[in-house]
Amino acid sequence: MATKGQIGVTTENIFPVIKQFLYSDHEIFLRELVANAVDATQKMKALASCGDFKGELGELKVGIELDEKKKTLKIVDSGIGMTEEEVDKYINQIAFSSAGEFLEKYKDQMSNIIGHFGLGFYSAFMVAKKVTIETLSWKDGAKAVKWSCDGSPEFEMTSSKKADRGTVITLFLDDESAEEFGTKGRISQLLGKYCKFMPVPVVFGKKTEWKDGKSVETDEDNVINNTDPIWTKAPSELKDEDYLNFYKALYPMEEEPMFWIHLNVDYPFNLTGVLYFPKIKERMAIDKNKIQLFCNQMFVTEHVDNIVPDFLTLLHGVIDSPDIPLNVSRSYLQSDANVKKISTYITKKVADRLEEISRDQREQFEQKWDNIKLFIEYGMLSDEKFCERALQFALLKNTDGKYFSLEDYRKAIEPNQTDKDKKVIYLYATNVDEQYGFIEAAKNQGYDVLLMDCELDSHFVNLLEQKLKDSGFARVDSDSADNLIKKEDKVKPEMSEDDKKALDELFKTALPEGNEYQIQAENLGEKSAPVLITQSEFMRRWREMSAMGGGMNFYGQMPVSYDVKVNMENPVIARIWADRENTKDLLRQVVDLALLSNGMLKGKALADFIARSESYL
Ligand code: ADP
Repeated sequence: MATKGQIGVTTENIFPVIKQFLYSDHEIFLRELVANAVDATQKMKALASCGDFKGELGELKVGIELDEKKKTLKIVDSGIGMTEEEVDKYINQIAFSSAGEFLEKYKDQMSNIIGHFGLGFYSAFMVAKKVTIETLSWKDGAKAVKWSCDGSPEFEMTSSKKADRGTVITLFLDDESAEEFGTKGRISQLLGKYCKFMPVPVVFGKKTEWKDGKSVETDEDNVINNTDPIWTKAPSELKDEDYLNFYKALYPMEEEPMFWIHLNVDYPFNLTGVLYFPKIKERMAIDKNKIQLFCNQMFVTEHVDNIVPDFLTLLHGVIDSPDIPLNVSRSYLQSDANVKKISTYITKKVADRLEEISRDQREQFEQKWDNIKLFIEYGMLSDEKFCERALQFALLKNTDGKYFSLEDYRKAIEPNQTDKDKKVIYLYATNVDEQYGFIEAAKNQGYDVLLMDCELDSHFVNLLEQKLKDSGFARVDSDSADNLIKKEDKVKPEMSEDDKKALDELFKTALPEGNEYQIQAENLGEKSAPVLITQSEFMRRWREMSAMGGGMNFYGQMPVSYDVKVNMENPVIARIWADRENTKDLLRQVVDLALLSNGMLKGKALADFIARSESYL
């Protein structure tokens, strides 16, 4: 028996297309072939367990055999095999016509297509100049067949002497591919990447051990995969240790994770997985591509951008779902209803888990807050639904290092920090050292000061202002302590327009050039500082946000504007104001003191200040 024929292809010569098309991703051929072998093996198991197959199952494993010299790679399984009709149907007809259809449909938007679409068996031709299939079906009376094809649309089918059930696929690597894939090291690496958790043992050669100073082969199979990774088990079977060990296996270089979430749904879509909150070390150097996507334990990709919401790409771990379409473009993925449901589900589960920990393990939650805060704030800023949930469990930290829920914090500050318009004013500092004087002054008024020192905090403050009703946020150094929360309208000093102008001109002579100043006469009390320099809360926030790339560059380009409050009730100011001509040094001194407490006195101005101060001693 020998059949020759043309494979049912629409495109005359599909192989060059396959090669070129998948150029960047040749390595997936191995995943596709091993996945087919695993599939055939599992089908065999299923036939045995439902009683349709009553014979010997034998050892069910998939073998990978590389002959570096002959440049061949074999994938051997003892799965269900194929009859001659089946080879004709699945290999000659269906696979090719569907590949043809696929190419036809997407030929105009090749670059859009996700690399991993699984051309299945035919991806073998990305690396092989010739492929053979030798197979014997499990069915009674089946005859073994050998199929071979040298990369043209012509194939040959003959009988085979294969005596044991299953399939052997042999790839005769082309020269270029032999160089790239024809070594044990490279095949090991590919198996490690794509087949690490496949559900049937995958064997690549024998285990080795050190004997007499060299590495020798043992009799034991070198199984490269873990066939039942933790995400396939029920959470009730697992201990913390299991989750931690799995994390270590996935990310050997990482510190222990902080929390994890076991995902497990089977309706309305199928999804399992374990997501971990990593310990974020350097905030800006967060690795986003650490979630691995699997499809029935077969590795697909580390690019889950469109499957999990953006803020969750900071998490690590695995997601396994056969319901995520793999063979489509990214833009299609975004609009896919299943993918949307999956994304919503994951967000909900993450929120559930965080809420649970914040409630049941409050102390731990507080300890870990600084490390997960960035993640939660990012989530709140980017995902409306998550934000609504997180308002229940997000914490605020004050400058004394104490943590509060949003609700508790409001209760604590409400009595003393409500202004004349019934708004509760939240005070915050962004740097305890730099704003030390302002923090102390606010505390002396009986106020509490929050610490907002994370890079997202300027956005976060805006968000909280919108979400928390009747509230406002003010940075401690945005005004004098007794003015931060306006309890009643202050009486301003009475001054003529001419005097105001004169005061303005007088103080501008002592302030550094290059900035804008709004100089105002104030009554801040005899004991308060003579001059206070602050930056308006509003301007500063917009400036910070535009610096982070919020798209509001207009504010970023404006000169920095400061409010300069001159305390007319302070005796030194009274002296300067009464005798302007003869107090020039004193004027400089009080202005420099105000600049100094804002960290704005630098270089020559600072040296002059020191020299002047010494002359007073
Ligand atoms: P897919 O796996 O996506 O269906 P493939 O082109 O990879 O597409 O394979 C086509 C078909 O060929 C499979 O569905 C299966 O029926 C058959 N097949 C491929 N490899 C094997 C194998 N190792 N053992 C048994 N059948 C196989």
